[in-house]
Amino acid sequence: MVQDLRKAGVRDPHVLAAMQTVPRHLFVEPALASRAYEDVALPIGHGQTISRPSTVARMLEIVLARLPREQRARARALEVGTGCGYQAALMAALVGEVISIERVRGLHDAARRNLRPLRVPNLRLMFGDGRLGAPSSAPFDAVVVAAAGDEIPDALLEQMAPGARLLAPVGDGVRQALHLVERNGDRTWELTVLDEARFVPLRPGTA
Ligand code: SAH
Repeated sequence: MVQDLRKAGVRDPHVLAAMQTVPRHLFVEPALASRAYEDVALPIGHGQTISRPSTVARMLEIVLARLPREQRARARALEVGTGCGYQAALMAALVGEVISIERVRGLHDAARRNLRPLRVPNLRLMFGDGRLGAPSSAPFDAVVVAAAGDEIPDALLEQMAPGARLLAPVGDGVRQALHLVERNGDRTWELTVLDEARFVPLRPGTA
């Protein structure tokens, strides 16, 4: 899988090492485990999917690109949309502290079960509406949103540290693009629209 990621253009050695270390088969149903290392999205129940490894690796590479290696151990990251917990585990391998929020109780519980054998002490899973972020743990040096909304929630922009990056798919069920936001100063955010994307919808409230 890691060779495929290199071919797909992923260069960050730490992201590649994390992808090598975190066992993706622990995050999919046993019936799909044989396909866990293919570069495909797979169903995780509740109508949701685990993203393709190349998508996850690319997003992590981009969101961490401005964070030098020596600062990563002290950095704090937020994920919106825990799903099965796979990307959260990768993030926890790359930065000092990770908070991941999921709005579907069944998935939040499943992620907890999936992550237990891996013992990831620097990852905190929260159940709730991730559009609100986690104000009591802010500011974050990196924010990754794993579901597509029609805009980036203001709360998430406010919870970015100066210099932080946020990646979020923006759009509807038909057309989405990956948006990269950098907070350059206290009140300055810079938006770059990256490539087309295909994510499940960002939904309000909890289920
Ligand atoms: N990062 C996940 C991808 C899961 S798919 C992984 O590695 O598997 C996106 C997830 O976002 C879904 O589980 C969906 O329920 C969740 N989601 C959608 N809207 C949300 C919201 N407002 N708050 C938190 N999670 C949300």
